[in-house]
Amino acid sequence: MNEIKPPLAQIELVVGDITQQADADIIVNAANAQLESGGGVAGAIHRAAGPDLAEACRPLAPIRPGKAVISPAFRLPNSYVIHCLGPVYGRDEPSDTLLANCYRNALLLADKQQVKSIAFPAISTGIFGFPKEKAAEIALRTIKSSIPSLQTIRTIRMVLFDQADLTIFEGKL
Ligand code: ADP
Repeated sequence: MNEIKPPLAQIELVVGDITQQADADIIVNAANAQLESGGGVAGAIHRAAGPDLAEACRPLAPIRPGKAVISPAFRLPNSYVIHCLGPVYGRDEPSDTLLANCYRNALLLADKQQVKSIAFPAISTGIFGFPKEKAAEIALRTIKSSIPSLQTIRTIRMVLFDQADLTIFEGKL
C-alpha cells in the first residue's frame, strides 16, 4: 500500500523586519547568551514584545552557542519566540556546526509546538560577524536537511534585512 505523505515545508526568502512577520507562528531571535535586549534583532524583538519578554527569558538564560529556547511572544503578533545563540565568528568553534545547530534546533523546537510557520533572521551575520555567504550556505543547507523530519511546519521564511542580503541567500538556495 502506498503511504500518503503530507507536502514538505517550503522555504521563502524575503526582505523585511523580523518583528513584522504577523503571519508567522514563530519568529526566531538572534539572541545573546543572557537572552537580554541589545542591538540588532534582539533589541528589535525585545522592544516590540515589551518588558514581559525579558522577564520570561531570565530563568531560561544563559544559553550556549547552537542552543534554542522558547518563550511566549507577548506584544508581538506571533505565538512564540525561539531564542537562538549563534556563534561569535572567530571565537565559538566549530562555528559552522554551531550555526547549523541553531537552525536545526529551532526548527525541531518549533515543530514540537505543532505550528505551521517560522521566520528566521540571518543568525550571527550582524554583531557576531559571521561572513554572510558562508552563513547563507549553512542556513539553507541545514534548513533543507531538516525539512524531512518536520511534522507540522510548512513554511520556513528567511527574513533578510536588505536587498544585498537577499541576493546572497538567493544565490545559495
Ligand atoms: P548576531 O548577534 O547573531 O550577529 P544581529 O542581530 O546583530 O545578530 O544580526 C543578525 C542579522 O539580522 C544581520 O544580518 C542584521 O543586519 C539583521 N537584522 C538586524 N535587525 C533586523 C530586523 N529587525 N529584522 C531582520 N533582520 C535584522
